[in-house]
Amino acid sequence: MKQIGLAIVPNEKDHSSPPEHPERPGKLALVLDELKKPKYSELTQPIKPGTYDETLLHRVHKPEYIRRLATFSESGIGYLDPDTYLSSTSFGASCKVTWSLLNGIDLAFGDGPAASFILGRPPGHHTEVDHGMGFCLVNHIAVAAQYALDHHKIERVAIVDFDIHHGNGTQHIFYDRDDILYISTHQYPFYPGTGSEQECGQDAGEGFTLNFPLPAGTGDKELTHIVNGKMSSRLRKFEPDLILVSAGFDGHYRDPLGGFRLTGQGFYDITRALRELAGELCDGRIVSLLEGGYDPDGNLDSITNHIRGLAGL
Ligand SMILES: [Zn+2]
Repeated sequence: MKQIGLAIVPNEKDHSSPPEHPERPGKLALVLDELKKPKYSELTQPIKPGTYDETLLHRVHKPEYIRRLATFSESGIGYLDPDTYLSSTSFGASCKVTWSLLNGIDLAFGDGPAASFILGRPPGHHTEVDHGMGFCLVNHIAVAAQYALDHHKIERVAIVDFDIHHGNGTQHIFYDRDDILYISTHQYPFYPGTGSEQECGQDAGEGFTLNFPLPAGTGDKELTHIVNGKMSSRLRKFEPDLILVSAGFDGHYRDPLGGFRLTGQGFYDITRALRELAGELCDGRIVSLLEGGYDPDGNLDSITNHIRGLAGL
């Protein structure tokens, strides 16, 4: 069996960007070229989007919001907020990313690779129950966590989000739940403004949101210290049946939006640590999704190291 699953869903045509927008197809150009090399076809098993029902999205999003995305028919490009563009084909494009993630989960619980990476766009972790924001349309990782609970007879899903921005949407969707643990490392204060240490869940969900707000300038050493320390302890205590990763690479030192100083080696180290935890806690089941990351060279460095880490190489 190939070591990891890999979905490639760049949506160059179906989610093309306004000029100069950071969330543009070209951000992935270098890494997509690299992934054509034979070593990656030896290492990875391709994951296709698969066929899933749109009603799965309604488990975390309001149907009215999904209908708004699905029926968006303006010619050219429209906006959900000043940052977040979409076209008439963007909803279908976004669903392809979500369905690829669900397929990665089905493979992890079936006879496929336990570890997978979904390399797609647009990202998802900022999208709330009823509105998209921050370049995100569908909250893929939230849909996926709920799907795994509903369809694989499991009890607990952990979401680790190391995008440089806090995943406000994911946090809020599961804020009062004790069956989904949300852990985020992010620059703070920073967009979108949420993610303080005091935000730790409510009601049954108290203690099931764990935020690590970090200053600009944070580097590999500080982040790996958190992942190997407090984050690992919390994951061990939670005993997840599946680890999902919101893998944003906008913390790379080259990234134009973020203020962290992470390197490819840093992303390798945290990925490798998460893979080891998945091996220890949930039969190696770890499914990772691309969130942010806007520099082509930074993405090449980060994503190839992430894939290497997921594969345990
Ligand atoms: Zn981000």
